[in-house]
Amino acid sequence: MPNYFRTNIQSMLGYAPGEQPQGGGFIKLNTNENPYPPSPAVGTAVHEALARGLQKYPDPMAGAFCRQASELLGVPPNWILAGNGSDDILTIVTRALVGEGQRLRQPYPSYILYRTLAELQGAKCEDVPFEPDWSLPKSFGQAADDLKLVFLANPNSPSGTVLPPEAVLELAERLPCPLLVDEAYADFAESNCIDLVAKSEKIMVSRTLSKSYALAGLRFGYLVAQPQLIEQFVKVKDSYNCDALSIAAATAAIADQTWLAETRAKILATRGRLAAALRNLGFIGPNSQANFVWAIHRSRSVRPIYEELKAQRILVRYMAYPGWSDGLRITVGTDAEIETCVQRLREIV
Ligand SMILES: *Cc1c(COP(=O)(O)O)cnc(C)c1O
Repeated sequence: MPNYFRTNIQSMLGYAPGEQPQGGGFIKLNTNENPYPPSPAVGTAVHEALARGLQKYPDPMAGAFCRQASELLGVPPNWILAGNGSDDILTIVTRALVGEGQRLRQPYPSYILYRTLAELQGAKCEDVPFEPDWSLPKSFGQAADDLKLVFLANPNSPSGTVLPPEAVLELAERLPCPLLVDEAYADFAESNCIDLVAKSEKIMVSRTLSKSYALAGLRFGYLVAQPQLIEQFVKVKDSYNCDALSIAAATAAIADQTWLAETRAKILATRGRLAAALRNLGFIGPNSQANFVWAIHRSRSVRPIYEELKAQRILVRYMAYPGWSDGLRITVGTDAEIETCVQRLREIV
């Protein structure tokens, strides 16, 4: 093929999403979806939006959602930017802040998409390894030439560990550029960084409805940042990045906090049982504040375990990060799914 493409596109691998088997028949514990159906208010809202019709373009700023989120989070609506999933938000932020040859920093190991976003820009992606206890070294906050954006998944994936808000604020104060705190899993954690956005212009927080609100199939996420930043990001986004059905559904979902509290409680209870069972089977890993558990085995590679589980139609995420022990990231499913998974693991190890 002739060389039509920008060199950074031609030479990059592209992001490989987790496996999404379309046939069914799997216990699916590999991409951190919520095992429970979303709030019933979501279906009602989608039907109502359909009845209103789809002939017209949606609200480009998803105002209904931003007003609802404003109430929930205690920030003004113009501090919120809606996106087609939080991956859309991460893309908008990277495109707006990081130019060709400039630098983006991420902790390692973390969410693999950050590197892909840097590569799309033709930017450098700097990995700063976590300490063995999943804290971050001082160097993570150091200024560097052309450093334009720092990503921090908090809780982190695959570890499920959290950097407390005081540490995040201190980190942002040391950095010369904005810090995007990716809170995809914050609804399962004991703390979050929303209140820091008002304290520091450099702190931005992204959230998704894919995990805690059980809407991965819908595609909705959002950013919370000070309005002078949001104004700039608006220039970069697609005009109609969220469709009318998803705006209606997402607005209804976040309005039902009773559903969220009940679902969260079930998932945290199951997470505790899963973590205890894994420890009994000789796995080690940090305490998780997310809806998954990172499991490393004391004495063996876990790849054959992943393969054997898959052969038995249980799908977990196998991760091998160079320089780190390989591990299984197991999503917290229903009690029944986790019981089956643990039972199979007991037979395998
Ligand atoms: C799942 C996930 C996302 C993406 O969520 P979407 O809203 O579904 O795009 C972002 N960041 C992290 C760390 C995730 O695990």
